[in-house]
Formats: sequence, C-alpha cells, structure tokens
Amino acid sequence: MSDEKRIRRLRDAGYKLTNARLAVLRVLEEAGEHMTSADVLSAVGDIAPDVGRASVFRTLDLLTQLSIIRPTYIESSATPHYVMMPDGHHHHIICTICKTVIEFDDCGLTDLTNRLEAQFAVQIRSHLLEFYGICQHCRDQGANGSDNPKT
Ligand SMILES: [Zn+2]
Ligand SMILES: [Zn+2]
Ligand SMILES: [Zn+2]
Repeated sequence: MSDEKRIRRLRDAGYKLTNARLAVLRVLEEAGEHMTSADVLSAVGDIAPDVGRASVFRTLDLLTQLSIIRPTYIESSATPHYVMMPDGHHHHIICTICKTVIEFDDCGLTDLTNRLEAQFAVQIRSHLLEFYGICQHCRDQGANGSDNPKT
C-alpha cells in the first residue's frame, strides 16, 4: 500500500491528517516494520518533536482500528511490534529457536477470506498470518525445538 493509499484510507474514514498521524505513518513506512511503540515514539520525536507521547499512542490505536497497521508479538515478548499491512496482508514465518522472521508476499488465502466473509457476514479488510517452525540454520545446528513433536 502506498503512502497515498494509506492517507486516502484515513481521509475516507473521516480522519484529518494531523501531524501526529502523518509522522507515525511516515516512520513506520520508512523504518520498514516491526516497531514497538517505544521505537515509534523515539522516531517520531526525531522528525516531529512537537507531537506528544499521548497522540502517538492514540494514533497507533487509530491506525490499528483502520487495519493500516497491526500489533504482532515477536520473540515471545510482551511488547507488541507494529507492522504495516500492505494491501491488507502481512505474513511471517518465525523460527521459534533463533527468532528469525521470514516475510512472504503471496498467501493464497482469497478463497478462505471469501468463505469467512460469507459464513460470518463480515467484511474482511486485512490479516496477519504467522507460521512458527525451525529454520534450516537451526536444524543444521541440531536444534530439535522441544515444542515440535515431529522431530
Ligand atoms: Zn495474505
Ligand atoms: Zn532458526
Ligand atoms: Zn513483517
């Protein structure tokens, strides 16, 4: 999703483009992804020092509500990392041993999405998909991953 699209989504939902909203979107976009709220806070402080802490947190909540970003829990940390949802998709494969995160684009979930929409009468706008496993490197190291009964 381009910046323009995100900004349009904010506008379409009836939200003004405040400094805080633009700054938060910009730092998430430029940093790539996987930022904690503390990361976002400090990056916003660099580009828009007038934006207060409370507005950054409110903006993160708002962008989550609008499905522009999603909180995800990486490295079994209690702190959520916010990720952008390009075109409503975000996909991870996470190695449970070394915590490497692999990103992939094509999830092939259109059929499932359509079925869920029909079954539950909801309009699905985005999804975060995470697979957990053991990467090649960790398997080469002989790690079994005690949580994996198959190995
Ligand atoms: Zn997807
Ligand atoms: Zn690994
Ligand atoms: Zn990601």
